Parts: sequence; C-alpha cells; structure tokens
Amino acid sequence: MQNTQVTSRSQQQTRPVRTGGCDLCHSGDALVLVEGSAETCPLVICTQCQLIYAWPQLSATALDNFYEDTFVNDPGSLQRAGSAFPPDEDRRKEEILAEHWSIKIIKRFIAPRRKKFLELRVRTGALTAILQAEGAEVLGVEPFQANANYARHVRGLSNVFDLPFSRFHQFPLPQDGQVDVVNVLNHHVLAHVLSPRLLLEKLFSVLKPGGYLFLDEKDVLHPVRHKKRSTLDSGPAHQFQLTVHTTARYIRTTGFELLECELDPHRSSDFRHIRIVARKPQEGEPATTFSRQIDVGKGPSLQTIQRRLWWLENTWRIRLARVRVKKKTQRMLRRLGFEYPLTQK
Ligand SMILES: [Zn+2]
Repeated sequence: MQNTQVTSRSQQQTRPVRTGGCDLCHSGDALVLVEGSAETCPLVICTQCQLIYAWPQLSATALDNFYEDTFVNDPGSLQRAGSAFPPDEDRRKEEILAEHWSIKIIKRFIAPRRKKFLELRVRTGALTAILQAEGAEVLGVEPFQANANYARHVRGLSNVFDLPFSRFHQFPLPQDGQVDVVNVLNHHVLAHVLSPRLLLEKLFSVLKPGGYLFLDEKDVLHPVRHKKRSTLDSGPAHQFQLTVHTTARYIRTTGFELLECELDPHRSSDFRHIRIVARKPQEGEPATTFSRQIDVGKGPSLQTIQRRLWWLENTWRIRLARVRVKKKTQRMLRRLGFEYPLTQK
C-alpha cells in the first residue's frame, strides 16, 4: 500500500469540500486531509466537529469485498488464516488482554454473574469464555470466520455469530430484546463500520436502563513511536479516524452518560488506545442530572489538529529511519558477538 500524503499547511487552507454529511454532526462542510489514490482512502475533516472520515465513503459491498480480498491486519482474516484457525501466538495475546485488562475494567463496574452481555468483535472468544465462566450469558458477533470458528468449535461458545462490519448494526438479540452490558473492548469497532452513529444508537436501544457500554478505540492523533506507516494511512479499513474528543462526543450525542474516556496507559498498538465506559441513564433521568458524567473538554481546534497531523507526517519518516538504523546496529553487534542492549560489567 502506498503512503498517503497529508496535504501541506498551505494547501489545507484552500481545499474545502462539501460532503454528503458528517456522521457525527451532520454538517457537510469539510476540508480535505488526504487525497485519495487507487490504494488509499480520501480523508476529510469536518469543520464543525473535527471528525476525520473517509469521503466518498465505500459502499457496504465494497467494504465487504475489501475485508475478504485484501485485509490482513487481523489474525482471523481470510488472507491470513485462510480456512485454518488464527495462529497460537495471536490467540495467546488475546487471552492475556482479556485476563489482565478487559475483564478487570468490566468488573470495576458490574459483576458478570447472571448478566446478559452483547459482545461485538469477540475475536476467538477469550473474553467471552471468561465472562461465561463467571456466570454471564453472552451473545457475540465476529466479522472474521476463522476467529468465530475457533470460538465455536474450540472454546465451545455456541452463541458466537458471523457478521461483516458493514452489518454490525444488525446484531442478533436475546429473546427479551435487552442486555445489561455491551462489550466492545476486544478490538476497536467504531472506526471500521459504515456509521458509528447508527451502531451506537442501536446499542443504546438494546441496553437496559442503567446498563453499561465498554468500548475500545484508537486515537489517530496519538500514534506510537514505532508505528510503521504514516498516521492516516489505514486504507479502507478505517472509515473513521477517531480521537478522544470525537469519540466522547459520539457517546454523549447518543444519550449515554460518559463515565470514562481517556488514553489507557496499559494498552497501545500502532496507536494509543482510548478506554471508554458509558452508562445508559435510568428511565426519566435527564442528562443534566447525570451524577458521575466526566468532562473531556472541548478538544483541539481544527487548526491545531491540522498542525499536529502535519507534524506527525513529517516526523514519522525520521522516526522510521531511526528505528531502521537501531535494528541494523543490533544485528551487526549480534553478529560480532556482543549482547544488545549493551550491558556494563
Ligand atoms: Zn461533524
């Protein structure tokens, strides 16, 4: 995949565009951040709410085809796992995450016993298995068949269903139609779907009053130092490039009480991850009386975001070159019989 080019600061001022409407605030006014090519998605930033999104957006069919034919970033994707199960190493990482991170966050707010969970993106079911062992009833969906097969056939989780990202808002429901908890901590989802707003509205409607939403997302303004590709270069996989502030606004706009929304010190991949905990208010509880609602602030201005993206794009190549030199030095020192990192005796 080719690297995207964030337009220069002078160009950014001259490329306004009218889109079909921002998924978060409905405004059609946006600025072009990344010009599209055959391999990459054109990206714009909403001038009203600063949501970064792909425009023109892929159709549902095109998105499904992309995940079937091209996508390799998930161990369960067709291109990586084929008809086999995802590799042991990836499953082990998932189990460590479930055991040492996700379940601990959930249990700070609610005891899983006798609760109904809806899980989006179960992966191979590591967390689902823990929740079931704790006495929860879990209904899960997963877009990658190799993951779902492992969950069903090896972990024995019969309530895991296949569902492509393009139809994530059409998840199955328990018989009485409502759940106590929606869990999306296993992998970020909002960036991958065609409308985070539509998905969140559906999740809100299936949660019982007082029910919890646990969510993981990546912050595009906080790439990690070893990131191999340019900040906005996720191709069609990320139809939305979220931040702490746009994610918080999505959650609040849907009607949730926002309890936690911050960069998590214990989880990062190619980006720092945002940990979100939200609650559906009780019947008749107006948003103004939410007792524990947190305030994440207004967020950076459009100009600040543009400057940050420009900075990230231009420093990314330098960081990458430094990593390459470091690795080359390590290899050379090992060949010469030295231990690396060098230890003082
Ligand atoms: Zn907007």
